Formats: sequence, structure tokens, C-alpha cells
Amino acid sequence: MYNIGLILEIRSFRCNGNNFYLAVNAHNNGKIAPFEVPLDKQTYLELSNKITFGNGSLFRLSLQSLWDPYRKQHLAKVTKLAGEQRESIYFICTKAFVQTLQQLQGKEFLQQLNSQGNAETTLPASLAVSRQKKQKLIALGHWQKVKRAACIAFLLLVFIRLGNAYSNNRGVEYAAGQNMPIVYDETPAPEDKQENENIQVNENTQENDETATEQNQFSVPVERMSQTNVAEGCVALTFDDGPTLYTEAIVDVLREKQVAATFFLVGKNIEAYPEKVAYLVNAKMSIGNHSWSHRDLTQLSPSSLVTEIEQPNELLMKLTQTTPALFRSPYGTKNQTLLQELEKRQMKLMLWNRDPQDWNDKSPEDILTYFAQTEPSGGVYVLHETKATLEALPQIIDLLKEKGLKIVTLH
Ligand SMILES: [Zn+2]
Repeated sequence: MYNIGLILEIRSFRCNGNNFYLAVNAHNNGKIAPFEVPLDKQTYLELSNKITFGNGSLFRLSLQSLWDPYRKQHLAKVTKLAGEQRESIYFICTKAFVQTLQQLQGKEFLQQLNSQGNAETTLPASLAVSRQKKQKLIALGHWQKVKRAACIAFLLLVFIRLGNAYSNNRGVEYAAGQNMPIVYDETPAPEDKQENENIQVNENTQENDETATEQNQFSVPVERMSQTNVAEGCVALTFDDGPTLYTEAIVDVLREKQVAATFFLVGKNIEAYPEKVAYLVNAKMSIGNHSWSHRDLTQLSPSSLVTEIEQPNELLMKLTQTTPALFRSPYGTKNQTLLQELEKRQMKLMLWNRDPQDWNDKSPEDILTYFAQTEPSGGVYVLHETKATLEALPQIIDLLKEKGLKIVTLH
């Protein structure tokens, strides 16, 4: 279950000794319920640094989190709403906070929220101890008991969720992720969809080419300045954050299965493994630019943003005698400056619309389950060069082929 309709509006921070809380209003089904989300100190410091209340700005806490495999840290997001403007603010958070966010996505939490109106003091139990009740208890010096009760309730909740997941034969994280076509693309423009349907696969040249019989490799041009999908009947596998120790093995599987993929490479990793770029080129894989240092480009100055695009391009020019036509921003973030800078360089922003979250401690089985249960047609899958993905890859390709899909690369 996924709390799509749930909006968490941040009201304030609260600090009580070494305990930190985020006071929020949960907007759900037309009802507003105040409660507090516990924060660990690190997450509190990161988040409180990024939020300045006032000027009529509203802040909404996203229930989604991201794992930055390059910097090996979790990121969560707050959306700032100021008049018509929306701004995504990312902050580093702990794994404990990621688990808290996952709890908030659970149907148990939603049920608690919905039934909250029945009893004045019973706010969503495990995370959200009623403020009034809490204050009374603090006054009575019983705060430790509340914490203990919250821990027990949390553990119970985890057991219930794990039990459900087990009986459904699918993982908790999968259940949370299945409704995530794009992690943080909350407001896709309606015209995007119309344009999407008009994307045609330009495959005639490849089909007439004799080499097409040797490899079922179809390279599809990205038509729009910012795109997330491919044409119906097609599917694209994309691998981010390489080159890595797994690059060659992934390429070998793709070659054996006579398909190709698009690799969005991080500049620093290209510098570390230039020979792996040659391996990709020799295997006719498509290469895109995934920034120099994998930072959220929307948080950078225009000149730093340009450097993040330019440096990998220059290095790839040296190594491959060509520059990539595609760019994929870390975390899928974008703004006008980025699009303008890409356009100046005849580059397109290629994001994704299918995310098996293979970075998130997934097993090969979890990844395969995502592929089995998600409609693949038109899908651009964001994958990473991980061991689990490598292990799942032969079956992923078999599954997509069985469904009659054309596996394409992008350029
Ligand atoms: Zn990445």
C-alpha cells in the first residue's frame, strides 16, 4: 500500500534534550492530523539547516528517499512551495530516517491516521505520539515510557509488515517502490504525455543493416529536450554511475544475449577506469554523461553546473573521439539552467520511468519481481552496476524478450 494522497506539511522543529522531532500536519482524505516525526540528531541538523520558515513558504516532506551510491548516503527531500514556485530541497539523512519514511508509507499508518478522529489522544501510534498526550507525559516525567512504547509499537509494526510481505511473497521495499515510475518527478507536464505517444522508433536503417542479424541492437534517438520514455513496444535498459568493477561483466551478459544498453557514466569514474569506457565502445553500448561528481545539479551555481557537464564530455572526447548526446542528471533533478546548458551542447536530458531501486540493498529476486510485475512497454529502466543487477540481468533480458519487446539503446 502506498500513501499517495498523504501530504506532510512541516510546521516546526522541536528539540527536547537529545530528542528531535519534526512537527507536521498530515493532510489525508480532507482531514488534517498534527503529529510529530522523530528525527535523529544527524537528520535534524541536515534538515534544519535547509529550511527557513517565513515569507509564507510552505514545506512538504516527501515520503520518498534516495540512495546516492556514489557518495554512499541517503537523501530525503522537502518541497518548498512559495506562491506558484516549487523547489526541491534535498538533505542527507540516516538509514533510520529512511525507515521512518517507509513506515509512513505503510497502510497501518494510514489506518491509524484515518481512525485518529475517534479518539482524541490516539495519534498514529508508533511514530506519532499525540502532542497533548506527550506533553502531559513529559510533565509527569514518563517520557521514557512513551519512548519504550513507541519502540515496541514500531517493532510490532515492522513484524506485521514483514509478515504481510512474506505472505504476499514480495518485499516491503518492493511494495513501497512499485508505484514509483520516477522518483521525484511529481508534476509531469500534461503535454509531455502527448509528446511521448508521438515518439517513433527509427529502426528502418538498423533492420536493413546486415549487422542487425548479428545483434538485436536498435539505437533510438531521443527526440525531446527532456525525455523519460521510449515508444510503445520498446524498452531501454540504462546503467548509471559507472564505470565500475562490474562494467565488463554486465557488457558480457548483454552481448551474450545480443542486446545493448545505455550507460550513463560519472566523470570521476571514467577517470578511474578509462579502459572500461573502451570496453563499452567496442561492445557498441551507448554512452551518456551522468555529471562529473554526482551532485544534485540544481543546488549548484551555473558555472559549477557547466563544469559538471563539460568535464565528462571532454574526457569522453579524448577517450572515444566523440561527445555524448545524452545527459542524465544525478537523482533525476533538473532546472532551466541545466536544460539551457544541455541545449547549447546539442545534448538531451534522458531520465527514466521505471525504477527497480536496485541500489537499495535489493536481491536479484527483488529486481526480477519488479520486472515481472511492471508493464515494460515504453519503459526506460534505471539500473546500477551492482552485483545483484548483474546476477538478475540474464533473466531480465529473457523476460523482456518473452514479452515481445524490442530492447533499444538511446542516442
Ligand atoms: Zn546516479
